[in-house]
Amino acid sequence: MGGQPYYGPDFGLLQRQDPELAQVLLDELDRIRGGIQLIAGENFTSPAVLAALGSTLTNKYAEGYPGRRYYGGCEVVDRAELLAVQRARELFGAEHANVQPHSGASANLAAYAALLQPDDTMLAMALPHGGHLTHGSKVNFSGRWFDVVSYGVRRDSELIDYDEVRDLALRHQPKVIVCGATAYPRLIDYAAFRGIADEVGAWLLADVAHPAGLMAGRAIPSAVPYADVVTLTTHKALRGPRGGAILCTAELARKIDRAVFPFVQGGPLMHAIAAKAVAFGEAMRPEFADYARRVVANAQALTDALADEGMRPVSGGTDTHLALIDLRGAGVSGAEAESRCAAAGITLNRNVIPYDPEPPAVTSGMRVGTPCATTQGMGLQELKEVGSLVARAVRHPGAAAEIRERVAALLAIHQPYLSEF
Ligand SMILES: *Cc1c(COP(=O)(O)O)cnc(C)c1O
Repeated sequence: MGGQPYYGPDFGLLQRQDPELAQVLLDELDRIRGGIQLIAGENFTSPAVLAALGSTLTNKYAEGYPGRRYYGGCEVVDRAELLAVQRARELFGAEHANVQPHSGASANLAAYAALLQPDDTMLAMALPHGGHLTHGSKVNFSGRWFDVVSYGVRRDSELIDYDEVRDLALRHQPKVIVCGATAYPRLIDYAAFRGIADEVGAWLLADVAHPAGLMAGRAIPSAVPYADVVTLTTHKALRGPRGGAILCTAELARKIDRAVFPFVQGGPLMHAIAAKAVAFGEAMRPEFADYARRVVANAQALTDALADEGMRPVSGGTDTHLALIDLRGAGVSGAEAESRCAAAGITLNRNVIPYDPEPPAVTSGMRVGTPCATTQGMGLQELKEVGSLVARAVRHPGAAAEIRERVAALLAIHQPYLSEF
């Protein structure tokens, strides 16, 4: 390391010491530079976020909270967590923030632990209609430990059926109502959910794991003014490190903090918390608001292009960063579409659509999202072209090589991790 203090990642050092592992990092960089990434929940962090993640803060044990730790020597890392908390509160206009959850799933586990006892009733969106595993799936702790009642979307509009939500809430008297989804392209009416929660005396938990970045950038309305607790991930549209966070009212602050630590987690990942602080700082800049608006406009351009090619967007379109496409008109399954797009240099995922006749391993749909492409600097024209490339890849597996060439041409101009963005 010579006379230079070591502050962060040194790739040359890793290459010399462990070429085998270093090659994995190089190959992954090649992979993301060699294809268009349309996975709705992925993004490319800034180099500054990566620098914080690769820092010596990973070494520090800091169980507890700033000023109240169970280890000595925490006075420096405390500053990172205080910055992250302050910035999260300011960014989202929240009374309280907990930035320690290791992931979105840990944030939900902690939020449930703060509000529910085992076997209590909660009302949440069904997984096959766009909800998340942690919203009551039987293969997840949420479905195993709580009595979960599920709502879905209407068959005709494919929008959340608020009448059904209210009927189920009145009938089952849940202690918590969860809103938020992982594959729902439309805005959620948080005021309507608040009204229903108030009517039955339930807590309202908004899981905004996916759209938190769009809310931070004011591209879509925020759930924070309506929900008692908001859980989020920092690595999706928000463009931060992999991790979670919880926002809540001052009333619930102590309950939430005690649920995260010591109930669900031990030592916090201080390097990840530092990187969250960096990402929140980036999201407070005007450029990020511009980014969030472009993510949504790009998703609409992509969705329109797919619709023009006869690929039906579930619910007729999108208001967010993602779209769900019904592939039955094209006569192709979600699994086939996923592998055909992969062969053409486009990464996306198969996804169940509401009332899907196919099982989850096959599905009748695919999900696309624009956070990555937008971070790479692609705009409306590019996303329009990406839409027609996706449609062609899905319908014509024989055209894969030709599509790859167009993909390479687009990526030659818009490469992640080549220049500052
Ligand atoms: C992604 C997601 C999560 C889980 O996040 P992880 O970090 O993968 O655990 C939780 N809820 C929703 C709605 C999500 O989309």
